[in-house]
This record gives sequence, structure tokens and C-alpha cells, in this order.
Amino acid sequence: MNGKTKAKKTVFVVEDEPDILALIAINLKKSGYDVEEYSEAGSMLKTLEKRAPDLIILDLMLPDHDGLDVCKTLKKNDAYSEIPIIMVTAKTEEFDIVLGLELGADDYIPKPFSPRELVARVKAVLRRSKATQSHTSKQITVADMITIDTAKYEVRVQGKKIHLTSTEFMILKMLSEKPGWVYSREKILDLLWSDEKDVYDRTVDVHIKNLRDKLGPAGRLIKNVRGVGYKIEL
Ligand code: CA
Repeated sequence: MNGKTKAKKTVFVVEDEPDILALIAINLKKSGYDVEEYSEAGSMLKTLEKRAPDLIILDLMLPDHDGLDVCKTLKKNDAYSEIPIIMVTAKTEEFDIVLGLELGADDYIPKPFSPRELVARVKAVLRRSKATQSHTSKQITVADMITIDTAKYEVRVQGKKIHLTSTEFMILKMLSEKPGWVYSREKILDLLWSDEKDVYDRTVDVHIKNLRDKLGPAGRLIKNVRGVGYKIEL
């Protein structure tokens, strides 16, 4: 709630290049975040067993682990799956970005990046994950199959709880609030990354694909409107 004293958000940063690690840490601290710095994934994973951050910034090329594997491991584990992850990557190939998003990362930032851009991404992802956790309780039911509790950030398909990333959750919520409405990829990106326009259209397709997979039998409710975008059809 605004106005109340609230604890600083904690960000774990995993990056083996000391200059980049320092750059990220300094800028996030300046923006009011608590930052814990890790030069490899192993020690970060150890810390996770004791305390969880509000967000993880994860380099893909690490000396001890492949960042994609780390992302996959965390997203598969119920205890950590809801911690947003932003991947940092020198590989700008679409393939790695798409793979990372498929594994459940919430966003990515290609190197080199400006500190301003980084802080904007962190804010956007935290805003999204906060938006999904706070607010008054609201239940959205779609076709008697999907139940979305926007206060608890819970989605059930035919009564069974499923785990979505904050991005998938926001897309599903958006589509479910107005069944029949078609959202273009641009519109979906606009709502998710309000100030970030340089995100591939393809990333929306990947989030939608993951969302459909996780929704199982209810996944077919999300329809692709050829050449336009997506909608929920009852
Ligand atoms: Ca690296």
C-alpha cells in the first residue's frame, strides 16, 4: 500500500563480469533497491535456500552454470517459481531470448545496455509482479474452466492450481477480463512493457504458447486471430 513504510525491494544480481556486476549494483542501489551481488550461480542458489529476493537478474553465460539451466531449475521449483527473473545476455540472437522466455524468464536485457534501461526493466517487472499480488480480491472465471484470483495471484484450471510467471499471469488476466476482445501483439506489449518498445513481437507468441501449455485443456480458449493477435473465446 502506498504511504506505508515498506521494506526495500531486494534484487539478487548474478553476473561474472565484475564491471557489469558493479554497474548493475550501483544503479539499482541508487534507485533504492537492496542489492546482493553474486559472481556465479552456485552461491546465489545457496542463499536462496535461506532467503528469497523480489527479483533476480541473471547473466546467461556464467562460469559454473548455464544461466538458462538456472532459470529452468528455479521456475520448476514451487518455492522459487514466482520470483521474477530478468536475463542479461550478450547473445542477442532471438533463439536464446525465446528459449529463456520459454523457460519462464519474465524479461531479458541485451548487453550492452544503459543503466537507465536496466532500472526501467526492473521497475516494470516488479510493477507487474506487484500488480498481480496486491489489490482487492477479485475472481475472474472463464468458461467454468479457468479461475483467476487476482489478489492471491492464483490460477486454477478445473480446480487445479497452475504456476504462471508474472508475465503469463498478466496476459491471461488481460485477455480474460474482456472475452471476445482481440488484443494485437503490439497492444499486449504496450500493456506489459509500457516504456519498452524494443521487444520482439515473437516474445508475445512465446508467452502465449507457455500460457496455453500450462492451461492444459483450457489452453484452447485462447485463440490466435491471424495477422492480428489474441483473444479469449468462450
Ligand atoms: Ca557472463
